[in-house]
Amino acid sequence: MPLDGFARLAEAVGSQSGDCRVWLDFGIDTQGRRQIRGHLEASLQLPCRRCLSRIDTSVESEFLLGMVSSDALAAELPSTHEPVLVEDEQLNLLAMVEDELILSLPQVVYHDEADCNVSRDQLTSGAAAPPESPFEVLKRLKDKS
Ligand SMILES: [Zn+2]
Repeated sequence: MPLDGFARLAEAVGSQSGDCRVWLDFGIDTQGRRQIRGHLEASLQLPCRRCLSRIDTSVESEFLLGMVSSDALAAELPSTHEPVLVEDEQLNLLAMVEDELILSLPQVVYHDEADCNVSRDQLTSGAAAPPESPFEVLKRLKDKS
């Protein structure tokens, strides 16, 4: 799955040119709920929090999703499952994978100090903004849509 079609991911960490590998296993749990067990791996280029140049970073994520048709059903899911909304029997696979990717982003990405373009001395001048968690990024993106 190419990463360059993921607009929200690009908004969060800059446009990506790599690929994302996704494995999905569709099933039904003992309660009769439809679920998806998944795994994804991607090579991303994430901006260093200090100097903002790109760093090759691998992300990996395991997830267990419960397919629900309403928010009320989502609330009934066990905490082991993340809800994924299915409307008119249509699962938006791309959006789902993109959500998981955004959630799997590391909170903070830095170069090793020796490789970074910004030294620790420059940092103490307070130029660096506090890191934003991927959950906040995702929430903000969802609120917007
Ligand atoms: Zn750096």
